[in-house]
Amino acid sequence: MVPELSIVIPVYNEGENIAPLYREVTDALVALGRPYEVIVVDDGSTDDSFARLRQVHQQDPRWRIIRFRRNFGQAAGFAAGFAAARGQVVVTLDADLQNDPRDIGKLLDKLTEGYDIVSGWRTERKEPFLSRRLPSMTANRMISGATRVSLHDYGCSLKAYRSEVVKGIRLYGELHRFIPALASWMGVRVAEVPVNDRQRRFGKSKYGISRTLRVFLDLITVRFMLSYSTRPLHVFGGLGLLSFAAGLLIGLYLTFVKLALGQDIGTRPLLLLAVLLVILGVQMVSMGLLAEMITRTYHEAQDKPIYVIREQLDGDE
Ligand code: UDP
Ligand code: MG
Repeated sequence: MVPELSIVIPVYNEGENIAPLYREVTDALVALGRPYEVIVVDDGSTDDSFARLRQVHQQDPRWRIIRFRRNFGQAAGFAAGFAAARGQVVVTLDADLQNDPRDIGKLLDKLTEGYDIVSGWRTERKEPFLSRRLPSMTANRMISGATRVSLHDYGCSLKAYRSEVVKGIRLYGELHRFIPALASWMGVRVAEVPVNDRQRRFGKSKYGISRTLRVFLDLITVRFMLSYSTRPLHVFGGLGLLSFAAGLLIGLYLTFVKLALGQDIGTRPLLLLAVLLVILGVQMVSMGLLAEMITRTYHEAQDKPIYVIREQLDGDE
């Protein structure tokens, strides 16, 4: 039977969590009464996670296991799971049981109201304030401000998607938390549902505070890809022209000072500034042109259209 529901769970050294995970997820899904599959991606665990997952699979073939050769990161885990998913709806979940599988039903109900993405929102986070919640709050504000999708909790792994949403997304680096933002490119309806947040019982977190910086850098990438990936010259060219024009004006002024007033300009800092601005301007514009060429290669090499169609009415059926 083709499953309606695909649950994708990345696992990296979660040995002790596997048994309770199997139990909780299975209980929650059986209660929903829809055909499902669970795709667990073992992201190069060095503990006994895989051995335990193999047992789970032998006992319950609805649990499909993908094992990476080495640790490729959580985003790669999600990507592999999305590629393997057969259901019309894909739900992602952490393996450490910080997410509560009983919330899956709530997400699905919301999805059937006509949304393409339903994101969990951990309204009562159980993690420490300074090292976790504060960076996370800041990140959520920044991501919401910089993209077209405003969410309270980008970092929550528990999310449900229509499968065409995740099938159309390429995840690079650690972009998994940006899926709703990346998907906004194709025009999606996004909703949020409050979910339960729990303490990690076994194993430890795979991330430290340095994640904050990486999230910030990723945000720049995502923002750029979203707004300018089909017209990079508009960013670089705009800045370049401004800089060039400012340099030119200062240069003209200095020329006037030299020729009309007969003063020396060779030692004036302003001269340096003029030169800097002109060079910067030329460089920005050429960079924009290069980016335009790269963009074309990017879209044409993978036959990636610059639009996405929701539906089409034509013919006379
Ligand atoms: N994870 C993974 N690969 C990694 C790091 C983490 O598959 O390189 C998985 C991990 O096993 C867990 C989920 O991603 O299921 C979230 O990781 P973690 O709980 O460490 O993150 P936190 O909840 O602390 O943000
Ligand atoms: Mg966790």
